[in-house]
Amino acid sequence: MLAGSREMAFNEVRKDYLLDRWVVIATERGRRPTDFAKQERQQAKATVCPMCPGNEHMTPPAVLVYLKSGKRIRKTKDEDGHRHKNWLIRVIPNLYPAFSPPKIRISRKRIMKNENLAAAVGHHEVLVESPIHDEGPANAAIPQLIHVVNGYIDRLRELSAKPYVQYVSIFRNHGLEAGASLSHAHSQIIATPFVPNTVKEEMDASKKFWRQNKECVFCNIIKKERNGPRFVLENSKFIVIAPYASVNPMEFWILPKKHENSLLKIPQSEVKTFAETLKTCLFRLKTLVNDPPYNYGFHMALKREAHDYYHWHLEVYPKLAIWAGFEKSTGMYINTMTPETAAESMRKNASSQSM
Ligand SMILES: [Zn+2]
Ligand SMILES: [Zn+2]
Ligand SMILES: [Zn+2]
Repeated sequence: MLAGSREMAFNEVRKDYLLDRWVVIATERGRRPTDFAKQERQQAKATVCPMCPGNEHMTPPAVLVYLKSGKRIRKTKDEDGHRHKNWLIRVIPNLYPAFSPPKIRISRKRIMKNENLAAAVGHHEVLVESPIHDEGPANAAIPQLIHVVNGYIDRLRELSAKPYVQYVSIFRNHGLEAGASLSHAHSQIIATPFVPNTVKEEMDASKKFWRQNKECVFCNIIKKERNGPRFVLENSKFIVIAPYASVNPMEFWILPKKHENSLLKIPQSEVKTFAETLKTCLFRLKTLVNDPPYNYGFHMALKREAHDYYHWHLEVYPKLAIWAGFEKSTGMYINTMTPETAAESMRKNASSQSM
């Protein structure tokens, strides 16, 4: 006979706010940030860095360069053999692009060949975030981080205007285990001829929610999570939460409080607040879990008709778990740290930030 009659406790299986994606959240015997802090971090091997100042000739000509010109920023690009020096940020085409631009005008029909095949038409770029090799968002000076965000916006504006581009993904890989084969601080931008699945699924679900409730689902999430256990921080323009069905330990999302469908709509006055929010969160993550590898990616809607129902945001995925047989074969995930624990430790870490 069992001693006592404690009811058997189960972990929870949670569904994402929007996606049909289920996550087993280890509410029983869940782990804490310190459990992950001792992991050894792998670094990319140190060789000659093609992104460091002085090595500009090792990269293709930049499509965008920010130069300091007195108190102002001059925006330009490299032409033919010439490479600008003394840059603040530069954006270069990826040497091994996943998507490449068409040489001549290309019709929709020639891109989407049939329902199983499309031509990988688009763009694949690398944004070098700083002349300083390891000046990433967690430790960058705010003016430098503002250049990075403005660089995202400039490329987004240009790429999204192209007739063959349906989506622009802006993302960052940090650390070798998160896919950053070069350790110089950089982000990537990929423009695709269709909307990738996860984003499309989010859009479809938020459209459905809007039709049923006449309210944006993300505005609704902000309202609900603001006073709950998954709240991380809030300032005048942005709110940060650990999502209810976090797939990754320590996952968090940054959402603008003002309802806008895309990063293109962010007023210049809010870019600074966004940079500060990003830095604060990534700095707290870095100190809590010993500079873990992570990926982040923006989600936004580029179509004007999505304005009512879609709300742009940044999702940050620390890479602290290894997805193996179960996750890969089922599309269901196991997260060993509850988002409530993640949010609590991110809130507590507020005192140790350097801003
Ligand atoms: Zn470098
Ligand atoms: Zn909204
Ligand atoms: Zn999203």
